[in-house]
Amino acid sequence: MKFDKNIKNYIYGELENPLSASFIDNYNPALGQVYSQIPDSDERDVHRAVKAAQRAFPTWSTIGVEKRFRILMRVADIIEQNLETFALAESMDTGKPLSLARKVDIPRAHANLRFFATSIMHFSAESHNMEKEAINFTLRSPLGVVGCISPWNLPLYLFTWKIAPALAAGNTVVAKPSEMTPMTAYLLAQACIEAGLPPGVLNIVNGFGHKAGQAIVEHDDVKAISFTGGTKTGRTIASIAAPKFKKLSLELGGKNPNIIYADCDFEKMMKTTLRSSFANQGQICLCGSRIFVERHLYPIFKEEFVKRVQKLKIGDPNSPKTDQGAVVSKAHMEKVLGYIELAKKEGGRILCGGEQKKVKGKFENGYFIKPTVIEGLAHDCRTNQEEIFGPVVTIMPFSTDKEVIKYANSTEFGLSATVWTQDITKAHSIAEQLEAGIVWVNTWMTRDLRTPFGGTKNSGVGREGGLEALRFFTEAKNVCIQF
Ligand code: NAD
Repeated sequence: MKFDKNIKNYIYGELENPLSASFIDNYNPALGQVYSQIPDSDERDVHRAVKAAQRAFPTWSTIGVEKRFRILMRVADIIEQNLETFALAESMDTGKPLSLARKVDIPRAHANLRFFATSIMHFSAESHNMEKEAINFTLRSPLGVVGCISPWNLPLYLFTWKIAPALAAGNTVVAKPSEMTPMTAYLLAQACIEAGLPPGVLNIVNGFGHKAGQAIVEHDDVKAISFTGGTKTGRTIASIAAPKFKKLSLELGGKNPNIIYADCDFEKMMKTTLRSSFANQGQICLCGSRIFVERHLYPIFKEEFVKRVQKLKIGDPNSPKTDQGAVVSKAHMEKVLGYIELAKKEGGRILCGGEQKKVKGKFENGYFIKPTVIEGLAHDCRTNQEEIFGPVVTIMPFSTDKEVIKYANSTEFGLSATVWTQDITKAHSIAEQLEAGIVWVNTWMTRDLRTPFGGTKNSGVGREGGLEALRFFTEAKNVCIQF
């Protein structure tokens, strides 16, 4: 496994430079320095990748599930055996703590491959019997060449979450990682070569979204697009793919409510809320950035929460003591700091954080932000409506169920929500009324890969995970046989 400074595309089993021969600077956000180069690919590279995927499709789609299972399991094993290299690459590319990449990102990446490699061995289709008249059965065939496009916050974790079901179901893939975090996808290409994945089955094209990404979406021979990223980008992709009648799965932004009732298990809630607010510097689409606390618990919650947030250690991503690393880029840091300024203008009081963190020594040019807690804002101000995607949360008191449901459902998003209460009847009722694709009760980020994953409203279209993903990456054909 080669940690190369010159990242290459992976097309028809070969690592190659882009046809343009031009490259994009790749930053280490904790250092604020360029540390590698990424291919600035264009539609010509995408076209080559699609051709490669088309060549590989007839064999890969008919090779049999057991052979696909074996190869995908080998790729998973190679990632696991090289956990340290992958984790270090993920941490350098994103600025996240190495401990987080080691514990969450990389284990989840090989788990994704194993999960879908084994799922396809058990995947079956429906049969509908019309008593003495006829029988229907559903054939599920791979679609052909599919496109997978992923974001920077959980790079290999989300990249494999798409690629694994697509490949397991017998499709061939043209994939693009984020131009901000391409390193682990490059290592994945090397793992695929080592595992003996046949040429053209997976092709990875690097580059900008509006160029390489859009060329994948526009290509007539790409039959489906699985996209995770921002809502605005999702809208652009939908506008290109919909008139071409491509299958489309869109996993988009969020502005998730975290609803805390006074009867909750306070210590468990506090520990989890610290994570659900600030894990990965708040750059997880599922983070609970709007915290609603039942009014009589509010003062106690506020005091204890702020105390614990102030103790979070920010800085060197390699130190095992670090809780918070850098945010992904200078532009993103400026965007997040801009939202903190907006919150102040909207009447918010900064209880802690609220500014860039200057880390001394080696990391003095890094993009660190102090974890920030804001109170005193209305539920419908811009700070509480728009996705910030950084280490910033707002806290607000509420008095009744009706009131908190109104606040929680007031945004354009509907990805996830968290509810803290010991009252199971209340939990059930609130979960039912929340406009979200995922509701966690007394937990956060507890993930069973078999469950449907996705958002409602402007948080997305379609569901990933388990059978949903295998159904997305296959075409159903009903065959009806008369007796
Ligand atoms: P982004 O939309 O800017 O980019 C995502 C990917 O799309 C990148 O690979 C980018 O190069 C590509 N892209 C950009 N423009 C494109 C175009 N016109 N055509 C094709 N591809 C294009 O998002 P981001 O900033 O990388 O990620 C952050 C966003 O992702 C946040 O909004 C976050 O909530 C969301 N997200 C959602 C989920 C989920 O499961 N719902 C998970 C993680 C992140």
